[in-house]
Amino acid sequence: MAGAVLVTGSTAQQGAADRQRMVEEIDEMLASGGGTRGVARLAPHVRAAMTEVPRHEFVPPEYRSAAYSNSPLPIGHGQTISQPLIVGLMTELLQLAKTDKVLEVGTGSGYQTAILSVLAGEVYTIEIVPELGKMARANLERLGYRNVSTKIGDGYQGWAEHAPFNAIIVTAAPDHVPLPLIAQLRSDGRMVIPLGGFYQELTLLEKHADGTTTTTIIAPVRFVPLIRE
Ligand code: SAM
Repeated sequence: MAGAVLVTGSTAQQGAADRQRMVEEIDEMLASGGGTRGVARLAPHVRAAMTEVPRHEFVPPEYRSAAYSNSPLPIGHGQTISQPLIVGLMTELLQLAKTDKVLEVGTGSGYQTAILSVLAGEVYTIEIVPELGKMARANLERLGYRNVSTKIGDGYQGWAEHAPFNAIIVTAAPDHVPLPLIAQLRSDGRMVIPLGGFYQELTLLEKHADGTTTTTIIAPVRFVPLIRE
């Protein structure tokens, strides 16, 4: 069977050891400041989710050996799977509870989606590139992430049928916060979004009981731009 690979026990254990090292590296980077505001280390449940989810299953075969390096990797169609440090930081900022309903804009490989799936109650994720959306859906189903609903379309519009969301994560950069996303965020909800042009600022938006919002700039980042239909 050309191309087929038997994953032996020792290979699976190696993946676990690699993930353990990856989360330790993330914590070291967060602890050393790294330009991130307010997050000094991953909370135990976020750490556990990142130790559990097999990142190598979400990267193309030619990049699998680099799956646990702390870097973004190409996933085709000019898009990338985000750097594990960024995935950890964004997830941490969402402060998810197991009962939360979360919207993700920019499914990409589905890796961040899988992390959200472990930590939240329901995950809704939208991807604009159909090939990526289909591949991520197939991967998430194959790996057993059952509380995830996927959609192909323009995430700028959010997913009104399932709103309001306790948390929204945007993994591609617009130059402003999409108004439909603010409308679909619950009062006391949190949104994490990169904002800007070539360079961006990772921004935490908090919505209060009276509907007003406050934003906090967390760190300088570089994401792919949010594509508009
Ligand atoms: N979270 C992803 C992961 O773990 O692989 C990484 C996402 S990648 C940095 C950003 C994704 O956003 C790309 O797959 C891109 O096609 C998608 N995207 C860009 N504009 C979009 C839009 N308007 N709606 C939905 N997805 C969009």
